[in-house]
Amino acid sequence: MSHHIELPPLPYAQDALAPVISAETLSFHYGKHHKAYVDNVLKLVAGTELAEQPLEAVIKAVVGKPDKVGVFNNAAQVWNHTFFWNSLKPNGGGAPTGPVAKGIDAAFGSYENFKKEFANAAMTQFGSGWAWLVADKGQLKIVKTPNADTPLTTGQAALLTVDVWEHAYYLDYQNRRADFVAAVIDKLLNWDFANANLARAG
Ligand code: MN
Repeated sequence: MSHHIELPPLPYAQDALAPVISAETLSFHYGKHHKAYVDNVLKLVAGTELAEQPLEAVIKAVVGKPDKVGVFNNAAQVWNHTFFWNSLKPNGGGAPTGPVAKGIDAAFGSYENFKKEFANAAMTQFGSGWAWLVADKGQLKIVKTPNADTPLTTGQAALLTVDVWEHAYYLDYQNRRADFVAAVIDKLLNWDFANANLARAG
């Protein structure tokens, strides 16, 4: 029996994002947290009609169903984390290029203003959650989601995300979420991934 839900390999070496995100953080965040979400959702769907479904179909099938909260939380966290690893790259960050750059200027006035608004969304997500750059009917927007919630279920096309759960930064930054977010924006964001997502969104 083949599973459609799995822990995909990281798109870079575990130490490739240091010093912004240390190898130790990735060993826990990817190797323990992300892996646990995968293991949990596989256990929860085993023997059910969802077992052979692709991840995105599982998430869309259970969102908002009170008796499927555990499946949703774990499945959405698998998707969000895979998306997050791809939102980062070594020597990334800085000003975007391509159609995303044009969309950012149109929506936020400038890259500098986008940076402020994106960091603000990441900082004002109370407790655990995510900050996202999305395309909503062609218009770029910044949104934040609590816990496992994901733009996948809202009709918005995710372009980039930053995980602001404490487990994303506590080993490297302790309580300094703002420093983590600023460093990720300046040094790791993968604008090629954002442009590919925008192209797919049409
Ligand atoms: Mn996380």
